[in-house]
Formats: sequence, C-alpha cells, structure tokens
Amino acid sequence: KNKVLDDTFKDLTPSYDWFQTDCLVTVVIYTKQKGMNSEMVIVDHQDGRLRVDSILRDYSYLLHIELSYEVQEDITVRIAEKVGKVEIVLKKKNNLPWSKLGQPLECHNSFIKYTDRGLYYRKCKLVSKTEVTHDTKLFCLMLPQSTHLQVPVGQHIYLRKIIAGTEIVKPYTPVSCSLKSDFKEPFCHDSTHLILMVKIYPNGLFTPELDHLQIGDYISVSNSEGSFKKSQVQTLEDLFLLAAGTGFTPMIKLLNYVLTNVCTVRIVKLMFFNKTEDDILWRNQLEQLALKDKRFEVQFILSEPRKEWTGKQGKISSSLLSEFVKRSKKDSKLLICVCGPTPFTEQGIQFLQDLGYSKEEIHSFTA
Ligand code: FAD
Ligand code: NAD
Repeated sequence: KNKVLDDTFKDLTPSYDWFQTDCLVTVVIYTKQKGMNSEMVIVDHQDGRLRVDSILRDYSYLLHIELSYEVQEDITVRIAEKVGKVEIVLKKKNNLPWSKLGQPLECHNSFIKYTDRGLYYRKCKLVSKTEVTHDTKLFCLMLPQSTHLQVPVGQHIYLRKIIAGTEIVKPYTPVSCSLKSDFKEPFCHDSTHLILMVKIYPNGLFTPELDHLQIGDYISVSNSEGSFKKSQVQTLEDLFLLAAGTGFTPMIKLLNYVLTNVCTVRIVKLMFFNKTEDDILWRNQLEQLALKDKRFEVQFILSEPRKEWTGKQGKISSSLLSEFVKRSKKDSKLLICVCGPTPFTEQGIQFLQDLGYSKEEIHSFTA
C-alpha cells in the first residue's frame, strides 16, 4: 500500500515557470501540495546561482540555475499556502529584459528523497557570542541576505569547518533567544539569524575551534534535518521532556512552540539532568517560566551535587520516571521527548518502554 502511495506521490512532480517585469524576475514553483509553509522552502543565491529546495513530505524538489543576468542580494519568498505555490522574487541589477532565466545546474528540476539530496552549506557570519554558563555559550549567526532558511522545531543543522586540513562536521540544534516568558532580545522573531547554544569541551575536536571564531568571522551552516514532526504535538494534552546537559537545546523551541500554539496542552514538565548546579542552562528563565505559566513545571536532578543541594539527585532511573510521567487524565494524549548523551537517551527510552509507554508516545532527538 505504501509503495502505491509513494508512486502516486512521485507523479505529483512539481514544476516551475518564470515571468518578469522591467525590474523584477519572479520564479514560480507549483508544488502541487497543500499546506506549504515558509519552513519548507530553502533559497540560496550565491555567485549568480539560484538554488531553491522545496521540501514536500520526505521529498525534495530542486531548482538550480545559473541566472542569465545579475540580481540584487535581497530575495523575497512568498508562499500561497493553500494552493502550494512558491514565488521567489528577484530584483534585476539592470532593468533589461531577460530572454531566458538561465542555464540549468547540477540536479536542476529533480524530485528525489530529501535524505538523498545531501547537505548544502552557506557561509554565515558570527555576530555575537554570549555566556550561558561557565562552559556554554550562545552563538548568534547571521544568514546571508540572499538565503531563506528557517529551521523547524526539533530539527538540527550541521556546522562545517576545516580543522588541520580535515573537514569536520558536527550537528547543533538552533534555539530561540529566550524562553517564552521573556522576549527582550532584538533577534527573537526574525528569520535572518540562527542561535546556537553550544558547550565548549576544552579537549574536544570542534567546539574549541568554534569558540576561537571572532565576531565577523564566517562558518558554514547546512540545511536542517531531523525526524520530529509538529503533528506529534498538534492535539497533545501532556508533554514530558527529559533533557541531560545540552540535550536541553531541542526542548527550547519545542517548549515555546507548545506553550504558544498547542491549545489542548494541560501539562508541560521538564526533568533536567545535570552534573552540578553551575551546569544548569537557563535555570533562571526556566524558574521564571514555571512561575508565569501554570501548565509548566521544571525539576532539576544533579548527578554530582555539592553538599548544599537539597533538590533531587542521581541519574535517570525507572523510579524517577514513574514518579515524574503521570497522565493528567486517563487516556490523555501524551508525548515524552528524550535528549542527552547516548547512554542517557537509550536508558530513558528503555525505562519508558518498560513502564508501558508506546513507541508513538516517545520521541528521541538524534542525528
Ligand atoms: P568531541 O571531540 O566529540 O569530544 C567531546 C568530549 O568527549 C570531550 O570531552 C572529549 O574529550 C570526549 N571524548 C572524545 N572522544 C572520546 C573517547 N573516545 N572516549 C572518551 N571521551 C572522548 N551540542 C551542543 O553543545 N549544542 C547543541 O545544540 C547540540 N545539538 C546536537 C544535535 C544533535 C542531533 C547531535 C547528535 C549532537 C548535538 N550536539 C550539540 C553535540 C555536538 O554535535 C558535538 O558532539 C559536541 O559539540 C562535541 O563536539 P567536539 O568535537 O567539540 O567534541
Ligand atoms: P554531561 O556530561 O554534562 O551530563 C549531563 C547529565 O547527563 C549527567 O548529569 C547525567 O545525569 C546524564 N548522563 C551523562 N552520562 C550518562 C550516562 N552514561 N548514563 C546515564 N546518564 C548520563 O552532558 P553534556 O556534556 O552536556 O552532553 C550532552 C549530550 O547531549 C552530548 O552527548 C550531545 O551530543 C547530546 N546532544 C544531543 C542532541 C540531539 O539532538 N541528539 C542535542 C544536543 C545535545
């Protein structure tokens, strides 16, 4: 049955067209898909090459063209959600008529599985670096003006850097600049910046190099990936988040998204595992959010607490989880998200399955 569905879907190959006025060139993609949104279209324009990747379910439709003439850097992306039409508006540098859009480049007009497309990178500028804890920082990266890329909730990007002659690639999960209770920062609502919360390991391969970047330096950032789907939380009633260390990063956008957009949700609980108090990321913001939003609760569990710590201690265990994950009512729609070091995530999933939660009720963030 799935094969038939897949084949039917492949018949829905998108198509494109273009038209112009004196000063504008508009490229139109007919995706033949309802419910398109801004996150499903990734646009890049570099050295006269236009690349538009439309993500349609698990497929990618690529438009890749060497443009006939020069265009300005700022590009507008418009999406007619209901009919699935995508418009890319380019501003001509010289207001002359174009006889054609350009020359096709590699994989132009192809419609293949998104996972087969391969990662595409563009250089982003480091615009700020701020401390979160003794070893963790927020890196704010500015996308090029000619890039349109919005990372969906629950997805990660890859950073790429040549280190000692070798190309190193590592995944990171973009975060919001703060939790819902406190929208003060300037870059909060725009889609021109990516914010990464990264722990620097002094003897790590990649993070010390990242930390050495100066404001104004560039680093390559890929398209996003990840298996999380917003539909998993659409009519959710209870959300439980189990995070360890920087495994907190995917929970940030998820918390903001669910508390703002999922009107059915009654309980959102975060169990946050760290070594010491000093390692807790955004502790103050989490406590503020819990005070402000009665649906939200946070518990900190320390594995290496100092003597003064009066809160919970230990590592992830079946007894901690059975106490923590409680439905707000019988048969409530529930999701438990897990993220942290691999052994933490694996143990968490095992304990939850042993406690009787189904595979559909558990999501783990992985690369
Ligand atoms: P590594 O060189 O990988 O070393 C990390 C630590 O492990 C160091 O202390 C090192 O000494 C130790 N180590 C290395 N090799 C060994 C070994 N063989 N035995 C014992 N110890 C060893 N991280 C974030 O900070 N923020 C994020 O948002 C984030 N998102 C992620 C999303 C995904 C999907 C995944 C899979 C990972 C994510 N990570 C995130 C982790 C990130 O990708 C890197 O793994 C992390 O930054 C460490 O990279 P590194 O090269 O600096 O360290
Ligand atoms: P850490 O070493 O500071 O440990 C934090 C807590 O994790 C500990 O207090 C403990 O409770 C728990 N923990 C650690 N090792 C454990 C083990 N072997 N068994 C059970 N519990 C354990 O954590 P960190 O340095 O911040 O590392 C965070 C990890 O999360 C990294 O491995 C990173 O790759 C991963 N991560 C994954 C994603 C993703 O989307 N998959 C996103 C961000 C981070």
